[in-house]
Amino acid sequence: MAELFYDDDADLSIIQQRKVAVIGYGSQGHAHSLNLRDSGVDVTVGLREGSPSREKAENQGLKTATVADAVAGADVVVILAPDQVQRHVYAEDIAPNLKDGAALVFGHGFNIRFGYIKPEAGHDVVMVAPKGPGHLVRREYADGRGVPVIVAVEQDASGAAWELALSYARAIGGLRAAGIKTTFTEETETDLFGEQAVLCGGASQLVQYGFEVLTEAGYQPEVAYFEVLHELKLIVDLMVEGGIAKQRWSVSDTAEYGDYVSGPRVISPVVKENMKEVLADIQSGAFAARFIADQDAGAPEFKELRAKGEAHPIEATGRELRKMFAWIKPNDTDYVEGSAA
Ligand code: NDP
Ligand code: MG
Ligand code: MG
Repeated sequence: MAELFYDDDADLSIIQQRKVAVIGYGSQGHAHSLNLRDSGVDVTVGLREGSPSREKAENQGLKTATVADAVAGADVVVILAPDQVQRHVYAEDIAPNLKDGAALVFGHGFNIRFGYIKPEAGHDVVMVAPKGPGHLVRREYADGRGVPVIVAVEQDASGAAWELALSYARAIGGLRAAGIKTTFTEETETDLFGEQAVLCGGASQLVQYGFEVLTEAGYQPEVAYFEVLHELKLIVDLMVEGGIAKQRWSVSDTAEYGDYVSGPRVISPVVKENMKEVLADIQSGAFAARFIADQDAGAPEFKELRAKGEAHPIEATGRELRKMFAWIKPNDTDYVEGSAA
């Protein structure tokens, strides 16, 4: 059974007594910074020269500095730049300015697990990874709740790294929901597998194939969109509330029977074998190496695949339909439809 931790298990004063530098003000960076500040922690946001985020952070009343200056003044450095740039930021601006004994906090284990960042022995290295997007991490905190976090210690130089990690997890609101103890290896490998095989990769491909099969058979794209994409949210909400069993309890007997007889035809055992191959590529570092090599070359493969995804006919159908849906109000004002293409 996993070990769970809540607010009462953490001493908030530990992180309140440290100077914290949060590097990056994106999805996770803005949420961690604002939640820490509202929990009474001394936060400085470290940003690159000319960063468009400086004004955003300062408008929220946060202190900002260059990455180098923020790190030089910090007891705790939180690395929330994108995974593919972290090792460059670490080598150029973090490592040369890191105080003796300063702790490093990660929001995902990628760079430590695959050896792209190798901190010196004198630093605590911990992870507090919210299991939700940054905008939800902030919204839940502001509403008095929290997004669950998973917490790990890779390197315990001080002998008190775990207490620090829990204190940090409490300050960002994670322990209002729950903290689960893990390791950098488990978090990294399961996170990558989940997003590739099921949540992002698997679900996106499933929806696209479903849309293609219906529209190629002559059905209206708008109707297909509803059946294979829009209703997915209702199904997933039921699963989150009560597992697959509650979803099956809620749908009609027709849908439930169809689930049992057709689900395994669509997602056949060969898919499970494919998933095992995906996991093997994650565990061996092959996926990480491919991602980093492409990013270092200017991300040609990544950009091509993103453009191809945006051009799938389901996106145009959805854009038109959603304009007519008075009941869908996007929460995130900084997302612009079609901007990725
Ligand atoms: P984002 O892509 O949203 O972060 C962008 C931020 O990083 C921006 O503020 C950007 O600066 C800054 N940045 C980019 N390049 C540099 C650089 N060279 N030097 C300094 N700052 C830079 O990242 P996420 O929040 O998505 O991810 C951060 C970490 O959190 C990752 O480890 C990720 O795996 C993890 N994570 C993310 C989740 C999510 O919901 N997105 C969920 C759980 C974990 P500028 O403002 O100047 O453009
Ligand atoms: Mg992830
Ligand atoms: Mg139906």
